[in-house]
Amino acid sequence: MAKRDYYEILGVDKNASEAEIKSAYRKLAKKYHPDVNKEEGAAEKFKEIGEAYSVLGDEGKRKTYDQFGSAVFEQGGAGAGGFGGFGGFGGFQEADVDLNDIFSDFLGGFGFGGGRRGNRATKGDDILIRVDLDFMEAVFGTTKDIELTVLEDCSECKGEGGHDPKTCSACNGRGRIITETRTILGVMQTESVCPTCGGTGKTFEKICSKCKGKKQIKVNKTLSVEIPSGVDTNERIRISGKGGAGKNGGPNGDVYLEFRVDKHPIFERSGNDIYLTLPITVSEAALGCKKEIPTITGSVVLEISSGTQNNDKLKLKGKGIPSNSSWNKGDMYVIIDVVIPTKLDRRQKELFKELEDTKLDNGEYKKIQKYL
Ligand SMILES: [Zn+2]
Ligand SMILES: [Zn+2]
Repeated sequence: MAKRDYYEILGVDKNASEAEIKSAYRKLAKKYHPDVNKEEGAAEKFKEIGEAYSVLGDEGKRKTYDQFGSAVFEQGGAGAGGFGGFGGFGGFQEADVDLNDIFSDFLGGFGFGGGRRGNRATKGDDILIRVDLDFMEAVFGTTKDIELTVLEDCSECKGEGGHDPKTCSACNGRGRIITETRTILGVMQTESVCPTCGGTGKTFEKICSKCKGKKQIKVNKTLSVEIPSGVDTNERIRISGKGGAGKNGGPNGDVYLEFRVDKHPIFERSGNDIYLTLPITVSEAALGCKKEIPTITGSVVLEISSGTQNNDKLKLKGKGIPSNSSWNKGDMYVIIDVVIPTKLDRRQKELFKELEDTKLDNGEYKKIQKYL
């Protein structure tokens, strides 16, 4: 039997946007919902609309459909029944479509008890931990023991939640239940996750005493983490798979470390470069000198040439933060701070006066003089 085109079913153009498709689906689903529309064929029409939307409403599936047609989406030739959960009036939802959203506006918010499955594989929790480092720890890297509390599968029941499983009697192992409610529009059927088994379809003779049936328990752990050289404040590193345990076979969450690096009394950082402000006297700047200065790897003697100016920047190549990649190796910069003395003793005053009598070079003053 040739199937109708999904675009035709929703009454939209082949180039329709996501929003147009959703809107068309909402209109039709409201019109043909079997709880509302008692006409013959409404239920089939409703299923057909749902099937079309389950494909066209999903970007990936829509692409496949455009390329190969609907045959790809038919499971065992069952047509409308084959695509995820269109088995009954209630079973129309596989999380792609939120019927609560669609019906709430005309049923006055009457609940369609969410169709999400309770046993879907989900990733475990990610955990963010702040780590304080002192300046040198951040510069050279370090190893830290990080304390954290994570949810792990209960060791007592191996994450099952209990012992001696049996089929849930409330839902007969389906994991979902259908409830009927009388409304002014007639009897309404609602499918939802079985509250007795939480959607797994089984219950236990004995609930696990350690996790009280919750499957996972909080565990305090210590992670020994190697922190690489050069991390800085607000930077994060990810430790893959060390967060909360995944649920129903999902992957574990990750642990993120976010750093706070203390300031250093004399060194400053800019990326991988280190800055040091070096105060020198007027005469040292004028005559030149040798100065012993600290670096992050020990002292060195810095040669300051005569005529060095205030704010001059001297580079010490490779004396910054070490890094694994050579292109990223930091340098050290020494910023010269020429200190003009504010307190002079008598002899110093005399010497400065004598110096002044020699007519020191006063740079661009001549240029200013012209405007007197
Ligand atoms: Zn347990
Ligand atoms: Zn159940």
